[in-house]
Amino acid sequence: MAWEKQKAVLERRRRDLEARLVGIEMSLDAARPADWAESAVEREGDEVLEGLGAQGLRELGQIRAALHRMELGTYGDCVACGAPIAEKRIALVPEAPLCASCAGGRQPQAGPGEPRAT
Ligand SMILES: [Zn+2]
Repeated sequence: MAWEKQKAVLERRRRDLEARLVGIEMSLDAARPADWAESAVEREGDEVLEGLGAQGLRELGQIRAALHRMELGTYGDCVACGAPIAEKRIALVPEAPLCASCAGGRQPQAGPGEPRAT
């Protein structure tokens, strides 16, 4: 399966997040107008400074990981159990690393490719 659509979405969000995070660092650092960013960033005001921080970093990490998995060819598979992530879930959360059952905290069923030491 090709992931061009997801890749485009993820790359756009990654750029957006990175630009905002850089903007936040600049603002916290120097509080001077970031005119370099005007063309590339939709500035959303000061709430971004408060809101993006931790959550934005976490999302950015997930997006980067998802793009990395695309390069490796494992994108779309749950990183915990290896099962394919449902298409509906991928469409909603393209950076999702886990299938619905792993993300829900339930133990994945051991597949044939997962021998368990007893
Ligand atoms: Zn899983």
